[in-house]
Amino acid sequence: MDYLFDLKRYAINDGPGIRTTVFLKGCPLRCVWCHNPESWSPRQQLLYRQGRCMGCGTCVQVCPHHALQTGSNGMRLLPDACTLCGRCTEECPTTALELCGKEWPMEELMVELEKEREVMEDSGGGVTLCGGEPLMHPEYTIRLLEELGRRGFHRTVDTSLHASPEVVERVAASCELMLVDLKLMDPEKHRRYCGADNTLIMRNIRWLAEYRPCAFSIRIPLIAGVNADEENMEQTAKFIASLPGVRPVVHLLPYHDVGKDKHRRMGSTYNPEHLAMGVPDEEMQQRCANLLSQWGLEVLIGG
Ligand code: SF4
Ligand code: SF4
Repeated sequence: MDYLFDLKRYAINDGPGIRTTVFLKGCPLRCVWCHNPESWSPRQQLLYRQGRCMGCGTCVQVCPHHALQTGSNGMRLLPDACTLCGRCTEECPTTALELCGKEWPMEELMVELEKEREVMEDSGGGVTLCGGEPLMHPEYTIRLLEELGRRGFHRTVDTSLHASPEVVERVAASCELMLVDLKLMDPEKHRRYCGADNTLIMRNIRWLAEYRPCAFSIRIPLIAGVNADEENMEQTAKFIASLPGVRPVVHLLPYHDVGKDKHRRMGSTYNPEHLAMGVPDEEMQQRCANLLSQWGLEVLIGG
């Protein structure tokens, strides 16, 4: 089953022009700074916002499976009992409970995407697939890209490229642009912060540069205390400058900490690596941009 967890209209940082971004649920990585931790699991989930809860107890009363209890910090979900029937989300008066993840038949999704066709076309925009990781759902992603292609939409895929070379090849052949994340150059640090090393990612970026089935740019999430240091920037610049063909544009995306609240909504414990992470100030952003520019790269701060 392939689930979407969001559809963002009028997006201006997910590729050229004004875009509609489709978020697929499921990701093979676990980056500690992730803005969308609700995208990690490929399955549906019940999310709870304590700040919105007024403690009325309606959800406890309506749950047919006794999967909710009143706890010291608001409601407590018993995940093994919950069948994700959604009854509590329908009855909650404050939308404190929300089901994350929706199956979206292709025709219905197309109806939604067609609504913004004019604004996309006028602005040179289109549709962006992101996640989660779209390449974790190759069959759905390719089917969606092919349908978008038939309808003449510009297609962008936002990806970590942590996927098999075969999948990368197929998806790259079905879109116009890939936005490729490059987080950390040190494989061990990459494993520590993202849950897997970067061997596959580096190999896939090199393949993309060599064969160019589609255009691509590199996006670096910039996080103080993790990757915004001189050594990582130098290694990153060296790697990108060594790629064959036209050098991709590099976007630096300064970290912000909205993911923290989302972790709380999911009831997940907070990874201690978060303590080392910080929002990079403007001086740090500029210093990193300068380090990359010295290698002849075109660098933009922002999406
Ligand atoms: S989704 Fe259904 S089973 Fe799960 S807590 Fe809500 S009402 Fe109960
Ligand atoms: S129904 Fe909603 S507002 Fe009422 S206790 Fe449950 S989560 Fe809180």
